[in-house]
Amino acid sequence: MKFSEVTKSFEELSKTTKRLELSSILVDLMKKSGDDLKTLVYLMQGKLAPDYLGIETGVSEKIIIKALSSVSGLTEGEIGSRLVKEGDIGELVESIMSTKRQASLETQELTVRSVHESLMKLSESKGQGSIAMKINTLRSIFISGTPADSKYISRIIEGKLRLGIADSTIIDALTLAFAAKEDHEAVDNAYNFHPDIGHIAELLRNGDINAIRAIGPEPLIPFKVMLAERLQDIKSIIGKMDQGAAFEYKYDGLRTQIHKSGEKVRIFSRGTEDVTDQFPDIVKSVAETFSCDTCILDGESVPYNPETGELYPFQFVSQRRGRKYKLGEMQSEIPITVFLFDILYLNGESLAGKPYGERRSILEKAFVEGQSFKLARRLVSSDEDVIRAFFNQSIEDGCEGVVAKSLAEDSIYRAGARGWLWIKLKKDYQAELSDTLDLVVVGAFGGQGRRKGKYGALLMACYNQANDTFETTCKLGSGFTDEFLISMSKELSEERVESKPARVVSKMEPDIWLDPTMVMEIIGAEITVSPIHTCAYGTVEKESGLAIRFPRFNGRIRRDKKPEDATTTSEILEMFLSQRKTVS
Ligand code: ATP
Repeated sequence: MKFSEVTKSFEELSKTTKRLELSSILVDLMKKSGDDLKTLVYLMQGKLAPDYLGIETGVSEKIIIKALSSVSGLTEGEIGSRLVKEGDIGELVESIMSTKRQASLETQELTVRSVHESLMKLSESKGQGSIAMKINTLRSIFISGTPADSKYISRIIEGKLRLGIADSTIIDALTLAFAAKEDHEAVDNAYNFHPDIGHIAELLRNGDINAIRAIGPEPLIPFKVMLAERLQDIKSIIGKMDQGAAFEYKYDGLRTQIHKSGEKVRIFSRGTEDVTDQFPDIVKSVAETFSCDTCILDGESVPYNPETGELYPFQFVSQRRGRKYKLGEMQSEIPITVFLFDILYLNGESLAGKPYGERRSILEKAFVEGQSFKLARRLVSSDEDVIRAFFNQSIEDGCEGVVAKSLAEDSIYRAGARGWLWIKLKKDYQAELSDTLDLVVVGAFGGQGRRKGKYGALLMACYNQANDTFETTCKLGSGFTDEFLISMSKELSEERVESKPARVVSKMEPDIWLDPTMVMEIIGAEITVSPIHTCAYGTVEKESGLAIRFPRFNGRIRRDKKPEDATTTSEILEMFLSQRKTVS
């Protein structure tokens, strides 16, 4: 397939916000792609391969500028200053290639395959001579493609395609193109257990729906973790879980999935990123602690004080994960315990379809507790007072509360799903909302006074899963330190876009629009009805949405969350309704 066909569809996609139109453009393109479908769907994601393989082109902005300079005759300095002014590398490449393209005999028509192969070569090229090779490859792409082709390819290289299509939209389109409507759930489930969109696309194209149905947890392939709903009190949880519940400590660390297959051990984050290299001590302990041949475990990594055994707060793990260069040093200072709460696979058998109670018994027998691995503490009871005492003990022990888990026969492991089989109950933030919210930054307002020259406040949005859009829910201006404001303003500037991103629904007009990328954790006092915010617009009251009152940043940037993992519109609506119930 010619790459120009992809460009044409990308241009159409960038002009529409209508879901049906978007979907029909994707379906048409997929149907036309033939053998190139697998590669095409990666490129639609703005990637070369699934996240967990960690494949990146390794091309810096500097290299793109050098390549651009060599084909346009402009100096690197000229291009660099235009980039500072204009911001978006893709637009700049397109604009320069439209006016300054130098004639060449080297041209070769770009195809989906040739572009993917060239970009893969970039990612593989390391060491001496690799920079020159990268410049040459880019040069030949820029010369061979149209200016618009070069725009999209540069954006893919930079990891910022910005088409505004979520993975779920690509999955929907794949189902529409190659399967029946009733297969949708099976395709979704397959993707949640095997989040490689190219692999799913191939199976669908071959009409292999049985292979899709057979997909479950696989050792060394990360899965999308199961998520919990929230409720505000123990009584409601007992009421909701009428077939009995177990209450586990809710540890305040990082979600961690551990895969063992023979000698091989891989550790993945909540976002399916491979973080094995950051946990060498845990990798070592897996081999010593688990005698099984294959297994997949789900748990929370929490650092602890080796002298007192006390658990440290989340920030310690987040530092450990974010700053690779300090890892060796930090490992001896802050060891980690993984509190295991689930097992999805053991010795060649998937356990995902078994009820939680059975999975927990299997997990308990799978290893002997040591310093690196412990079982999540739990209580099985339906006595409110006993549960409350357990909850209070969890806070005392440095946890955030409890997660209730249904003991019903149908309490299977539902990858990627947030449902009522798991319900979290967090400690009360006194007069505040009983849970933090993870919101996406979509815009920024210039600062005044001490904040002049930096961003003073941010426009924050939740994720509307049904429409695949981001709806604004507050303007966030507190909880920032001066130091943080400087670094954040710099980081967010890279996400700057000229106009409102297509998936953002807003009535407010910030000074600067930002591509919805960064997720921040927010505490609010309550949820109110607001005419200026678009979250759940028109649902509670006509011409009004829902807003977070007195939002405050609590210092946690959720780098482990994609924008689509942010708090959803329906969760905020639920919180609003339950808040109303509590008040009345
Ligand atoms: P979510 O994961 O629900 O999107 P979040 O990442 O903001 O939200 P919380 O709302 O604080 O986190 O709670 C859910 C998280 O709690 C889980 O994703 C997991 O990382 C953590 N957790 C800690 N202990 C447990 C446990 N025993 N069972 C399940 N999850 C637990």
